[in-house]
Amino acid sequence: MEFNTALLHESFSGNTQTGATVEAIYQTSAFACESAEQLERIFNNKANGYAYSRIGNPTVSSFEARIAALENGIGAVACSSGSAAVALSLMNILASGDEIISCTGLYGGTIDLFSDLSAFGISTRYVDNATPEQIEPLITDKTKAIFAEVIGNPRLNVTDVGTLSAFAHSKGIPLIIDSTTATPYIIKPIEYGADIVVHSSSKYINGGGNSISRVIIDSGNFRWDGAKYPALAEYERFGKFAHLAKLRNGLWRNIGCCLSPMNAFMNSVGLETLGLRMERCCKNALELAEFLENKNTDLKVNYPGLKSSPYYSLTQDILGGVGGAILTLRMGTKERAFKLINSLKYPLIASNIGDVRTLVIHPANTLFAHSSEKAKAAAGVYDDTVRVSVGIEDIEDLKQDFSEALGG
Ligand SMILES: *Cc1c(COP(=O)(O)O)cnc(C)c1O
Repeated sequence: MEFNTALLHESFSGNTQTGATVEAIYQTSAFACESAEQLERIFNNKANGYAYSRIGNPTVSSFEARIAALENGIGAVACSSGSAAVALSLMNILASGDEIISCTGLYGGTIDLFSDLSAFGISTRYVDNATPEQIEPLITDKTKAIFAEVIGNPRLNVTDVGTLSAFAHSKGIPLIIDSTTATPYIIKPIEYGADIVVHSSSKYINGGGNSISRVIIDSGNFRWDGAKYPALAEYERFGKFAHLAKLRNGLWRNIGCCLSPMNAFMNSVGLETLGLRMERCCKNALELAEFLENKNTDLKVNYPGLKSSPYYSLTQDILGGVGGAILTLRMGTKERAFKLINSLKYPLIASNIGDVRTLVIHPANTLFAHSSEKAKAAAGVYDDTVRVSVGIEDIEDLKQDFSEALGG
């Protein structure tokens, strides 16, 4: 199956009980059983079935199965938000004293979260670029995970997932990849050796900007050694499902950050048009980036698909030449950045990405308001930066709008 066909027919072909062509919304807290014995079996993982929606719900399971299949994973766990999933994917394997290595070009909320984890004895060390050369000197016997974004939001740095995973595995460390800005339309990180993939499905997967959610997908390929990862020792008997089994039976259900059935439904519906939307958004983004770069000498355009980007050749090599749907502009001054944002007619001034609508924001004073100047610069965020999440509007309208907002 090719990508767009798989979005519609992989792991789902309608509701088999009723013939409904889309998944039903099981908007229920609990599921009644035929007998006390049956509920006992379900509670003890001795029978398939549902008991309580914090632990499992058919609408949520259907979404999990579809995204896991698309990413070539062995399973997925959906969460109420992206931030919760990032925390859980790490807390599931780490213990106090452990270290994470990550890249400065990360989503601001993830950097904030990593600093919260330090209260629990989990520290993060950062490199400017997630390359073996920069990471190697920071590795200690406490390094238990490497975390990176495929296309950093908002620095738009591209990670060479294949090289990084080969390096991580040579050190016996799993690679966790946040693929929110890339989506499986551009790259399936598991094919390049990533062990765990996380998505803020609030963004491109949902596509309509109507539900907050996140999903963790496991490749099943990493062998969790109980001596090095004591948290997983009692789950080693689950083999390749060890990590997922621990997540489902432990932290995820106990913390209770389950995805609501309604939001899972919205994501499943959104997922079906992911290919078409990404094709359009990414094409628009490249065209807008080229237009702005050629037309204006007084602003700087950052987009991985531009020949002027330091990530251009990596984008050709591992992203099939598709640089995603986000670009950032450096306007020279904060005043010019604000003026552009305020003058645009179509783009909404909003903090998310991955909507069908074009969105703009001044990240320095919003998403990165709590970060130090050093952290902002390392994340590619300056006082004059505008981030544009390009939507599916007609490109001629977007070009004209930017042109007029920039003064003709
Ligand atoms: C939005 C985003 C998150 C956080 O996800 P939420 O769904 O907002 O909690 C994490 N990583 C990246 C790259 C994001 O863009």
